[in-house]
Amino acid sequence: MKVSIFGNNGPASMKVSRALKAGLTAAGITIDSLDPDIVVTVGGDGTLLSAFHHYNDRLDHVRFVGIHTGHLGFYTDWRDYEVQELIKSLIEDNGQSVSYPLLNIKVEYADGTHPDEALALNESTIKKVSGTMVADVYIKGELFESFRGDGLCLSTPTGSTAYNKSVGGAVLSPHFDAVQMAEIASINNLVFRTLGSPLIIPADEWVRIEPAAAADNILMCDQLAIEGRPIKAITYQIAKQRISFAEYRHTHFWQRVESSFIGRDR
Ligand code: NAP
Ligand code: MN
Repeated sequence: MKVSIFGNNGPASMKVSRALKAGLTAAGITIDSLDPDIVVTVGGDGTLLSAFHHYNDRLDHVRFVGIHTGHLGFYTDWRDYEVQELIKSLIEDNGQSVSYPLLNIKVEYADGTHPDEALALNESTIKKVSGTMVADVYIKGELFESFRGDGLCLSTPTGSTAYNKSVGGAVLSPHFDAVQMAEIASINNLVFRTLGSPLIIPADEWVRIEPAAAADNILMCDQLAIEGRPIKAITYQIAKQRISFAEYRHTHFWQRVESSFIGRDR
């Protein structure tokens, strides 16, 4: 088995990465950042998002494990003081995994250049830098609404606790194969009307957003901006690919939500 250690540059993460590397090497496990079977991230959810984008062309044979060196994360359920226990689990690995849905993003450009496709683990947002974003929203090929406001956020179930939650979206169990669309400050009055609440579509439906021409929109894919060229349309649907995590132990999703947002035990 080949393991990649993908850590952030904080002192706490670098210390954990060194201990992990020493422990795995002593156990005869190969460290390989080019062609790993398992990617261990050390940092926070943001670090795991970066690792996901780094290895997103190998999702069919890579499993992720996240160690958090800050607060408990959604994708990072090992604590920094559990490194030895994790090394033991990696040595005894028998391929156990759990997978979650991803968001497929197809971007068509106004200049007719080749469309881009990308995958998001958390979400993709389309926002306007200044002024109101104006866009037509189609669901499954039918015009649904004409949106005016700051922007729209399309998220995966595991991303539903991130940006989506901040803009009033629902927290969605990752057992659903679904995409959620949440509005960011929509204008609703006698002239302009949108649904005004988040909506959730199943795997066989898609959302297409056509921004008004020449709008200086920013398109985000997790923490990365797909900026520059004017966008003709963006199509969102659940991706064929999924992300797999090495499941050495199970943290219940709702337990994770409770400990991150409610924290009764503190
Ligand atoms: P960041 O600014 O560090 O992220 C913002 C916060 O979101 C951090 O506390 C991060 O945890 C947390 N987070 C990331 N994914 C999450 C998830 N699936 N569920 C719950 N919390 C999650 O930037 P980043 O670390 O590069 O992460 C990028 C993500 O930040 C974006 O995908 C977006 O979802 C989120 N974001 C949120 C807002 C907002 O809520 N207003 C604005 C911009 C971006 P860690 O500290 O463990 O990294
Ligand atoms: Mn972060």
